[in-house]
Amino acid sequence: MTQKATIVGGGVIGGGWVARFLLNGWNVSVFDPDPEAERKIGEVLANARRALPALYDKALPAEGRLTFHDDMGDALTGAVWVQESVPERLALKHSIHAQISELAPAEAIIGSSTSGFKPSELNEKGARVVVAHPFNPVYLLPLVELVGHPGICARASDILRSVGMYPLTVRKEIDAHIADRFLEAVWREALWLVKDGVATTEEIDEAIRMGFGIRWAQMGLFETYRIAGGEAGMKHFMAQFGPALEWPWTKLMDVPELTDDLVDLIAGQSDAQSGHMSIRELERLRDDNLIGMMRALKKTNSGAGGVLNAHEAALPDPQGGELPVTVDRSIPQSWTDYNGHMNEAHYVEVSAQATDRFMEMIGADAAYVAAGNSYFTVENFVQYMSELHAGDRLTVTTQVLRGDGKKMHLFHRLHGQDGEVAATVETLLLHMDLNARKTSLPTDEVAANLTAHAENHAQLPQPEGAGRYIGQRG
Ligand code: NAD
Repeated sequence: MTQKATIVGGGVIGGGWVARFLLNGWNVSVFDPDPEAERKIGEVLANARRALPALYDKALPAEGRLTFHDDMGDALTGAVWVQESVPERLALKHSIHAQISELAPAEAIIGSSTSGFKPSELNEKGARVVVAHPFNPVYLLPLVELVGHPGICARASDILRSVGMYPLTVRKEIDAHIADRFLEAVWREALWLVKDGVATTEEIDEAIRMGFGIRWAQMGLFETYRIAGGEAGMKHFMAQFGPALEWPWTKLMDVPELTDDLVDLIAGQSDAQSGHMSIRELERLRDDNLIGMMRALKKTNSGAGGVLNAHEAALPDPQGGELPVTVDRSIPQSWTDYNGHMNEAHYVEVSAQATDRFMEMIGADAAYVAAGNSYFTVENFVQYMSELHAGDRLTVTTQVLRGDGKKMHLFHRLHGQDGEVAATVETLLLHMDLNARKTSLPTDEVAANLTAHAENHAQLPQPEGAGRYIGQRG
């Protein structure tokens, strides 16, 4: 049965939670007294629908159902997960959690998005909340800091992983958990640098994004510094740079007073830096950049890319009819070109994904390749028939034209959103012995599986266009 999440407070963060659950197949109900909440969440959802599926090489589950409620009790009926994301004021959180505790199902997990409050503060009036602190955009970034009752955090972790997130259970409750402690120190230094006229908001952002910001996304702080220590490693690094901490490089705990002048200075510089784009445009730019970086991390199974790979492996494989469905995915923005449709190179990329999946289906999987066997593509012939666009669902069926000896001859049909064939890729592969770097026969098991498919597919009509080559007439 479809599970249900209730989002109490649907602003920047609540809207992101709505998208995270909904696009992972959960039903979602929202309670937020703001008459604009539905419109704002709609805009966040539009961005999320464009972005989240682009991280995956498999289709996400069908979207759940989204409902809005004027009554908190109605919204909470049947909820498995309740996420509170109301403004960061303790008295408001207390009054909301008193209502949630009373109205939510007894077994529901109740999470708070609070950036700063500890669970003991949230629960001091008798509520049963754990902190589940996410990062904006909640629909793309995996991290959720979990703080509170160990048993509830363990159950919460399983649910968060199932919607593609990375729960980090914090060992001890402290104000602002782990990440915001860290970010506050950075923010404080940035305010001083602007106030002292050392740097503008734009120069500070360049100092981050041109250098250490890129580093942090893939190896964090300690692993990066370990490398910086060279062959002598972490001890050497600490000996070299540790003493520098005693020099007054930073302003330590002093906080600049947020006078009207300082606020105006920062807001003015920020307008000059980014005022030419709307917030929604900036969000889309941010999302496209995050997707590109996270897809790169997927290839090396690092950081957020490792989380994506684990989630993708848990998604169901596509099911076929007469022909196996070897790809079922959405088309990422990054695959489209200046014409607004999928660039020709990615037709071959999709066909390679289809071939990889088909190889898995006949037993030529990762273990088979690790054992020194594989198929290598020696020829591809692509027919481009109609346009494919970012966000379109793309499915591929694979027909075996020939599968014996060293040869595997496949015909992939790429179906667009409407189910029509938008392209075909005919591909010939030869079996290889990866150690000898020579062609070879597949194992008996793989050969038998391939032959079985070939015999079944031989009963079907031969695809129109098979055997074509460039230069034919008509
Ligand atoms: P926001 O102001 O964008 O959204 C708050 C929402 O709560 C609004 O839509 C408001 O209408 C609604 N609300 C107000 N009173 C309510 C009530 N009584 N019942 C139900 N809804 C009510 O704020 P936000 O940035 O989304 O922050 C929400 C929480 O998330 C805070 O605890 C914050 O610390 C935390 N958080 C924020 C960020 C961030 O980057 N903005 C990141 C992580 C966590």
